[in-house]
Amino acid sequence: MKKPLIICDFDGTITKKDNIISIMKKFASPEWESVKDAVLDEEMSIRKGVGKMFSFIPSYQKYAMIEYILSTAEIREGFKQFVEYTERENIPLFIVSGGIDFFVKPLLKHLIAEDRIFCNEADFSHDFVEIQWPHSCDDQCSNDCGCCKPSIIRKIQSKDNFVIVIGDSITDLEAAKLADFVFARDLLLKKCQDLNLPHRSFETFTDIITYLQHLNEMMKASV
Ligand SMILES: [Mg+2]
Ligand SMILES: [Zn+2]
Repeated sequence: MKKPLIICDFDGTITKKDNIISIMKKFASPEWESVKDAVLDEEMSIRKGVGKMFSFIPSYQKYAMIEYILSTAEIREGFKQFVEYTERENIPLFIVSGGIDFFVKPLLKHLIAEDRIFCNEADFSHDFVEIQWPHSCDDQCSNDCGCCKPSIIRKIQSKDNFVIVIGDSITDLEAAKLADFVFARDLLLKKCQDLNLPHRSFETFTDIITYLQHLNEMMKASV
C-alpha cells in the first residue's frame, strides 16, 4: 500500500488570509499594488514580485510586522487537531509556503516542528527588507517560483508515496498537478474542477481529517 505524504500551503490555507498582502497593506509604500497586479497578470514572476514588494518596507519595521501578524492572523479551524492526527497516523506532513520565515515560523510555533517548514527568508541587515530564496526552482521548473513547490515535492517524495497537496491558490497549482490527491479551496478548487484533478473541497481542517480517514480505509481495502 502506498504511504501518504502531505504537502500543505500556508497563506490562505493554514491562515485564513494571505499574510504578505496584509503586511503590504499596512507597511509598504503604495507602489506595491502595481507590483502585485503585474504578478497576478503573470507579467512578473512570483520571486521577482515578492522581492520587489518587500523592498518597499524599511528593515526597522521587522518587529512591528511580526507583532502585527501575530495579533491579526487567524489559523483555520482544526489545524492543531490535523497536525495531531498526522502524528498519530505516522503521516509525514510538510508545510511548503511562499511566505516568509519571520511570520510563518512564529505563527506555527507550538503547532509543528521547524524542520517540517519550507519557506522563504528575510534579511533585515540592510535599510530595506531583502528576501532570500533557499528553495528556488530545480532544472525541471522554469517558473521562477521563489519557493518552488514542485521542486520540493520532487526532492522529498519517494516512489511509494501517495502525495496529497492542500492549498488555496494559483501558487499551489503546479504542486497539485504532481499530486495523487488535492484538498482545495478558493481559486485552486476552480482550477482542480477545470483540469479534472482528483480533489475534494474543504473549509476547515476538520473536513480534511474526516476525508483522510475515509481515504485511508479505501486504500486499505484496495490492497
Ligand atoms: Mg496560499
Ligand atoms: Zn518553480
